[in-house]
Amino acid sequence: MDVANTIAECRRLREALGPDVAFVPTMGALHRGHTALIEAARAEGRPVVVSIFVNPTQFGANEDIEKYPRPLEEDLAACRAAGAAFVFNPPAQEMYPPAAEAVLVDVPALTGVLEGRHRPGHFRGVCRVVAKLFYIVRPGVAYFGRKDFQQLRVIEAMTAALDMPVQIVGVPTVRDDDGLALSSRNVYLTPDERARALAIPRALNRAVEMVAAGEKQTDRLLASARNILLDMGNLGHVPLSIDYIATVDPQSLQAVDRLEGSVLMAVAARVGNTRLIDNMLLEPPG
Ligand code: AMP
Repeated sequence: MDVANTIAECRRLREALGPDVAFVPTMGALHRGHTALIEAARAEGRPVVVSIFVNPTQFGANEDIEKYPRPLEEDLAACRAAGAAFVFNPPAQEMYPPAAEAVLVDVPALTGVLEGRHRPGHFRGVCRVVAKLFYIVRPGVAYFGRKDFQQLRVIEAMTAALDMPVQIVGVPTVRDDDGLALSSRNVYLTPDERARALAIPRALNRAVEMVAAGEKQTDRLLASARNILLDMGNLGHVPLSIDYIATVDPQSLQAVDRLEGSVLMAVAARVGNTRLIDNMLLEPPG
């Protein structure tokens, strides 16, 4: 499996793969959530290009870019094992040479809420790097995890609005056996923090159960989820604090008061110094 460190080399390897490739953009520190994207792409039969790039423009000033895990050799082995055709792993100055002007791509209707509200500029950074990667890799299809649901919606909207010739596919969230969504940031959690973090899938699952039992009022779903997060999350010495918990329309991401169709419950919480996000779709019976 080849590794391209420059845009020119990436383009050369890309051309050699023929007219249609699938693409999986990542920031590395790969786990089964990432390899599920590569495997979903492989299952459709196209060669799969994976990028590993810890994108500085999507991190805020006080965020964890410096300590973000970068186990490159393990990541390359995981890509090889999952069947990637090649990996694009550029240094930051290759993607953002000092002389290059900043370019802003934004989808304001979708980025003023949830993650976008709590991480100002985050989705501009995501859109900028994904647009650039799409122009470099020119995939026919690109795979994104539903774990980052808002990101998936923003990328869908960006590609539709700019008529980018790429299909966007969302892949279900991969979880550990205990229910915690896999995340590159889980490695920061101490065993005690990890136990607290399980409050997040517990709270979401409780909402799924309540909806299955007929609950339609989102204020009751949110109150129950908040109780679980605060009770279970704060039993030990490590407090869990909620950044936000919301029930939103899965298309518009606007808040919903009452379930008429599927609604997304999305959570961001801090456990110790680690910020985790998760979501589940609430689907009324029938
Ligand atoms: P990241 O490396 O965190 O930027 O994630 C790269 C891609 O992997 C994104 O499309 C994520 O949504 C996806 N991803 C991350 N964690 C998971 C997971 N647990 N299940 C499915 N996809 C995931």
